[in-house]
Amino acid sequence: MTGRAEKSEGYVARTRPVVPPIYQSATFYLDDLAYKDIQQNGGLTEHWYSRFANPTVDAAAAEIALLEGAEAAMMTSSGMAAIATTLVTLLQSGRRIVAARQVYGDTRDLLVRDLPALGFDVAVVDSADLDAWAEAITPGTAIVYAETLSNPQLELTNLPVLADLAHKAGAKLVVDNTFATPYTVNPLRLGADIVVHSATKFLSGHSDVIAGVVVSDRETVTEIQRRMITFGGCLDPHAAFLVWRGLQTFDVRLERSSATALKLAQRLQDHPGVESVRYPGLAGYEGPADVLKPGRSGAMVAFTVRGGNDRALKVMRRLTIASEATSLGGVETLVSTPFNSSHFSLSPQELAAARIDEGMLRFSCGLEDAEDLISDVERALDETSAG
Ligand code: PLP
Repeated sequence: MTGRAEKSEGYVARTRPVVPPIYQSATFYLDDLAYKDIQQNGGLTEHWYSRFANPTVDAAAAEIALLEGAEAAMMTSSGMAAIATTLVTLLQSGRRIVAARQVYGDTRDLLVRDLPALGFDVAVVDSADLDAWAEAITPGTAIVYAETLSNPQLELTNLPVLADLAHKAGAKLVVDNTFATPYTVNPLRLGADIVVHSATKFLSGHSDVIAGVVVSDRETVTEIQRRMITFGGCLDPHAAFLVWRGLQTFDVRLERSSATALKLAQRLQDHPGVESVRYPGLAGYEGPADVLKPGRSGAMVAFTVRGGNDRALKVMRRLTIASEATSLGGVETLVSTPFNSSHFSLSPQELAAARIDEGMLRFSCGLEDAEDLISDVERALDETSAG
């Protein structure tokens, strides 16, 4: 047994893979260094048990920290694990969180159903109403929470103003950057303290993994990591490898799918069957200046068809290139109607208050030929207008 281990160690020492190996091991040999780390540091530095840390998972996290211009990052089992673990950790220092109304459906459920049930004080405000934010962020607030670019309305949040309000009240600004991605916005550079992502989406990029990530300074990430360890939402090494591999093409994918999104948004603006188009790169888009990186508007487009949800569903069913499926950020274009998928738990009144219009379609542009994709959408719209 010992002989085999020695031979294998010698071989590993000479082997330098270009791609990080998948350390598909729940546990690692304990030695004096590991015991020291466990005793002195809670076992956060050495690799000794994969719920605490794993080399493949660390490799994915390091890539995302670089993309967000951050000191540290930690992976979680899903985007919701990243969000919930972060919020519950920070809410120990104060019971109040002030959050945007315009957020992903399950984040909303966490905010209005689960966090209050745990005894936390949650205030929900319209993300575009800066006066409402200022009024709600009282001293003693622990967290201010928003999505950089909201799901599905594609409203850009004024991060510098929110950061200022949060910091004056002694709170931390936590931002979900899933829709915008680090290709278009780096929230930490605009004053955010913590960035969370569903790495299921653009970061991994192939619709083949569920994963999340928390990005911040080392001290904050370590604090949240301790909670992740006891809550148990760690990422599996094989899933982390898929995230790492997807990240190798992040910029090229985003460049291509964002160019398609811009063309799609521009063309849909002129279509008689379309009531409105939401895309941050369109002329006349109302939103805070200097949040987006110059010339970058992302790969998500939302548009509202005339005739409400029934017509939107008919248009969607006639598409032959975009796939009718929830989620986003993959190499294939995905389309959904938020009212019956990502935001199914909202009542018609809540959908209206969140500015999710009747007839809204959400598009995540993929890597298909832009002209093929756009003419397919135009054809589906034309055929449905014709009855
Ligand atoms: N945040 C946003 C903006 C999302 O769109 C989603 C999922 O669609 C999530 C968080 C949750 O991510 P996950 O499904 O990886 O838990």
